[in-house]
Amino acid sequence: MAKPLEARCDHCKQNRPLFLYEPDHNCHLLPVACRWCDRDKQPLLCTRCWDTEKQLEDRTPASLEEQSIGSFLTAVMTRSTQHDEQCATDQATCDGIAKATEESAS
Ligand SMILES: [Zn+2]
Ligand SMILES: [Zn+2]
Repeated sequence: MAKPLEARCDHCKQNRPLFLYEPDHNCHLLPVACRWCDRDKQPLLCTRCWDTEKQLEDRTPASLEEQSIGSFLTAVMTRSTQHDEQCATDQATCDGIAKATEESAS
């Protein structure tokens, strides 16, 4: 493994081995302003600052608009799953009728 670059941390300004911070929540449902995704350049952070940044990212909830879009999408998806189940039931009924018709015809 390559030795991490030792330089000044973008957060604590100490000379430490640095790691590039990469946010992992870049899957916004809306084009919202996001302090992690909107950065031109991700910071180089020492392990301590990296962890702090990560925890901050994990704790930051989605914006209200995103939350409402998210619950809307969940509702739509739940509904379409139920619809699929209904179709499967109908199909089974149809198959049953077709089979019964076939049997009575022969
Ligand atoms: Zn630091
Ligand atoms: Zn983001």
